[in-house]
Amino acid sequence: MAFKVEIDKDACIGCGACVAACPDNFEMDADKAKVKNAQAEEEGCNKAAADGCPVNCIKVTEV
Ligand code: SF4
Repeated sequence: MAFKVEIDKDACIGCGACVAACPDNFEMDADKAKVKNAQAEEEGCNKAAADGCPVNCIKVTEV
């Protein structure tokens, strides 16, 4: 199973919650969050990051 992890950068408010929830796969890039690996082997903490995003701009989809 594999997962695609995406951030809608236009919607991101740069709060850092995703980085706190999932430092393995999210980092800050200036004032926006960035996904380190858009193709994840496991859902892992990516779901926690998506669930915790206050503007719901992280999408984790099974591919
Ligand atoms: S939690 Fe959402 S709004 Fe906050 S930095 Fe991450 S992607 Fe952006």
